[in-house]
Amino acid sequence: MIITLKRKSSKQEEAKVIEKIKKLGYVPHISRGVDITIIGMIGEFAEKYKDVFESMEEVDHISEIEKPYKLASREFKKENTVVKLPYGIEVGGNKVPVIAGPCAIESKAVLLEIGKIVKDAGGTILRGGAFKPRSSPYTFQGLGEKGLKYMAYAGKKLEMPTVSEAMSVEQVPLLSEYCDIIQIGARNIQNYDLLKACGKQKKPVLLKRGMATTIKEWLLSAEYILSQGNYNVMLCERGIRTFETATRFTLDLNAVPVIKKMTHLPVVLDPSHGIGIREHVPTMAKACLAAGADAIALEIHPRPEEALSDGPQSLLPDQYNKLMAELKVLAKALDREI
Ligand code: PEP
Ligand code: MN
Repeated sequence: MIITLKRKSSKQEEAKVIEKIKKLGYVPHISRGVDITIIGMIGEFAEKYKDVFESMEEVDHISEIEKPYKLASREFKKENTVVKLPYGIEVGGNKVPVIAGPCAIESKAVLLEIGKIVKDAGGTILRGGAFKPRSSPYTFQGLGEKGLKYMAYAGKKLEMPTVSEAMSVEQVPLLSEYCDIIQIGARNIQNYDLLKACGKQKKPVLLKRGMATTIKEWLLSAEYILSQGNYNVMLCERGIRTFETATRFTLDLNAVPVIKKMTHLPVVLDPSHGIGIREHVPTMAKACLAAGADAIALEIHPRPEEALSDGPQSLLPDQYNKLMAELKVLAKALDREI
């Protein structure tokens, strides 16, 4: 349930309610608006204590969140969540950051080479996997911790926040140490222990939708992270499986307006994995912006034929540069900024 405090309540009044929630064995989830603070008390049988809180003079009223995803819902928080990253980058505001980089971190030199291309054209977040969830166990699995060290180095050198994927609970502390955002890949969206581990650490999380995940399941996975106290979650649509085989996946642009109505969390779009064909990525990237993306994730590689993963969908630097110029123009028309 949601406990809405009286307008302009003081820190002490807030503390009194929080203490009561904790005493009853629940975790308080606080959302502070300009004048009004609301506190989520979520968990089994929480509603049983409705009367207890209703009678507190610090409390204005109690309401219930009907949706199964509670903290992720617009009922809990009306304003959009803005995730703040190093170097003043934000996801969820009017500016639409472009997250770009190689699919996998291949070497320090190649990562720096790509990072520079990303930055020069206006990309602001550097991506690259060190632990790669490959369909085949015989293909490149990523550089592991060594790759994360390269990522941390490149991020510092280029002054860009970084994102890389954690595939298991044991990898979470490493990602948390070396990167600014932890990515949960499509294949791990229902790895609940992994989600909880990401919720227990402080770095923002980029939660990719699974290829057969409904919007509701996606939000419930986000809820696993939020419920542990990490409210910096970004959702990422990256294509779902349909009967179509002419493209790698089917980028579900429908999901964008729908999910934005349901949740306050920022929505990132990944047209690279979504369509999987280099030539068509720019078209879909522009469609992502038009559909309301809060950030766009792109894979790029200067020599895609040599890329150790996802070469066929990686943009060439020239294509990326041209796309960035187009996105800037389009963003203006949409009253946004790149
Ligand atoms: C990736 O970002 O390189 C990746 C593996 O993404 P996904 O989990 O969406 O397939
Ligand atoms: Mn990839």
